[in-house]
Formats: sequence, C-alpha cells, structure tokens
Amino acid sequence: MHELSIAMSIVEMAEEESASRGNAQILAVHLRLGPLSGVVKEALLSSYEMACASTPLAGSQLLIEEVPVEVFCPRCKTRVRVSSIQWMACPECGTPTPEVLQGRELEVTALEMNE
Ligand SMILES: [Zn+2]
Repeated sequence: MHELSIAMSIVEMAEEESASRGNAQILAVHLRLGPLSGVVKEALLSSYEMACASTPLAGSQLLIEEVPVEVFCPRCKTRVRVSSIQWMACPECGTPTPEVLQGRELEVTALEMNE
C-alpha cells in the first residue's frame, strides 16, 4: 500500500524533529496534498493512524489541506483552476493546458508540538 509507506516516512520525519527538540510531544502534522500527487486522502489518514501506533506520535492528528489544481492557460495568459483533473483544460476558453502550476503537492508544512 502506497499510502502506508508515505505515512511511515511522515511519522519518521516528525519523530526525528521531536527528538531534536528534547522529545517534544507532536500534537499535529500539517500536510498539503494535491489531487495529482496520486495519494488518496482517506487512505493516507487511516495509514497515518496505523503508522503512529506504538510511536511517540500515537494520538496525534494529520491535518490535510487540499490544494486545488491550477494550470497556466496559454490563451488567456493567466493562471486558472481546472474544474476536473480528468479534463486538464482552461475552464474559460477550453484550451488544453499541459502546464500544471500546482496540484502535485505532498508536503509537510508544519508540526504542532507541545514544548
Ligand atoms: Zn483560457
């Protein structure tokens, strides 16, 4: 399961961060997730819970911020948000837009710790 290995690396990273701050308790992990990352939010959330079990992160929360897919439309010369990832085209003029500006994110943005 793809999401489980991702969850485990997030937990590992957070554990190291906590250890470097005198084993501060991790309360929450903030993550930005784009629909093009190939990661399913629900699967990641349940994997996170599994990965946390019997680690110092048990009971902490994974807070996922979903990032919308935005592309650059060469015709409108502007940044637009696609309405569906199945149809990567400008919603204004219908031009196919291969230039994805965001939506592939899978990144930890912050850790909440009890210091
Ligand atoms: Zn356009």
